[in-house]
Amino acid sequence: MKELIQNQRRFFKAHKTKDLRFRLRQLRKLKRILKANEQLFYDAIHKDFKKSEFDTYTTELALVYHDIEHAIKNLYRWARTQKVATNLVNFPAKSYVISEPLGVALVIGAWNYPYQLSLAPMVAAMAAGCTVVVKPSEIPSRTAAAMKKVLSEAFSEEYIAVVEGGVPETTELLQQKFDKIFFTGSSFVGKIIYKAAAEHLTPVTLELGGKSPAFVTEDCNLKMAAKRLIWGKFLNAGQTCIAPDFVLVHRSIEEKFLGLLKAEIEKEHFSIENDNYVQIINDKNVARLQQMIDPAKIYHGGEVNTEERIISPTILHKVTFSDVVMQEEVFGPILPVITYENLDDAINKVNEMPEPLSCYIFTKSGKTKKRILNEITFGGGCVNDNVVHIANPNFPFGGVGNSGIGNYHGEAGFRAFSHYKSILEKPNWLELPLKYYPHTSGKLWWIKQFFKF
Ligand code: NAD
Repeated sequence: MKELIQNQRRFFKAHKTKDLRFRLRQLRKLKRILKANEQLFYDAIHKDFKKSEFDTYTTELALVYHDIEHAIKNLYRWARTQKVATNLVNFPAKSYVISEPLGVALVIGAWNYPYQLSLAPMVAAMAAGCTVVVKPSEIPSRTAAAMKKVLSEAFSEEYIAVVEGGVPETTELLQQKFDKIFFTGSSFVGKIIYKAAAEHLTPVTLELGGKSPAFVTEDCNLKMAAKRLIWGKFLNAGQTCIAPDFVLVHRSIEEKFLGLLKAEIEKEHFSIENDNYVQIINDKNVARLQQMIDPAKIYHGGEVNTEERIISPTILHKVTFSDVVMQEEVFGPILPVITYENLDDAINKVNEMPEPLSCYIFTKSGKTKKRILNEITFGGGCVNDNVVHIANPNFPFGGVGNSGIGNYHGEAGFRAFSHYKSILEKPNWLELPLKYYPHTSGKLWWIKQFFKF
């Protein structure tokens, strides 16, 4: 690994990746090879957790293609030198900011959207002009192998390299000096990454998880809220970092809301055969999720097929904040529904928990919307919908506090892998004597006039 990173650093220092035409060529090539190998990607992910072509395209590859196209279209604008005003004290001078790639980047992916979470940060790093070592999650091992095969056939290792493996391999990688580490995964492992990065003062972006609430208020379009929540929650069988983790519903509409949720589940016919459901990624997660289902609180679903690793879409009702299901991120097809009497209490409860990655607000009231947006700190979210904000590349996507540091997609991704060099350029035709010795009272008077404070 040491040699791999040395080679990448040597390649980076040859300044080839600083050429915008080089970056554009590589991004176009990436799109070409991904498209040419789509079938391989579909087969691999289906073997890993039976994800369908429809879901793989819409929630993984399409997002990566979109990021590539967006970067190609905007690269010159993102990378151009930006002029800024020069202040009076520095007169006469020109001031500008140059973006430059940070260098050798490490991208560590999570398993739940294995292509998107490894490739989208890689696209951002390539657009910014970095070389990249990608370490996909080892859990969906076939998707990791597919990415390794396709990328290593198309790119030299000194530019783009895929390292397969789990904790030992990642630990070894983390001992090396990178110029940027981009991590997607749990808050627990995020802390390990942050500590390792600190050893080399390496900047990080941490895309982490959390318990994302959905508020369903008494005045919302309840039918639409139920429809959208069911889609967002059970997409990828709930194994989505921005899925609504739990619902806070006003007590007056609880029964009606639960009925609508159940009706939506039945309408959707979630199953692997219908291409709209997936397996739980592994036995460990099946066991973890199973112990979150309190049989006394099942409103709908709750069937667990351990052999097939399938948990049916499950709604829990009468849930309290002290229940097992509320102690950690669910990250599976279980939706706890908690009722609230007044909004203050609901907001306070959420604010007692670590900062979530997302928050969703289903309401028609502008006042309620403003209150929640103003009073709860979270990564990003939607009003009257859920999950879909991820699909807008104009948004910086990321968490805050416990749910992450930094953000990406679109220009935010370019910035995540860039350093901004501020340059003040002086002409030689004038030099004011004020800063030079001797420091007289007359000079100080003039300086004070300049500063005006
Ligand atoms: P994870 O933290 O277990 O693993 C993520 C990566 O870290 C994997 O590549 C893994 O190999 C590596 N890793 C695991 N343990 C390690 C260790 N001890 N030392 C070094 N590396 C280690 O996360 P996961 O189970 O793959 O993903 C689930 C979590 O990721 C959830 O919390 C979810 O919310 C979060 N997530 C966040 C986003 C986001 O965009 N913010 C997206 C997807 C998933």
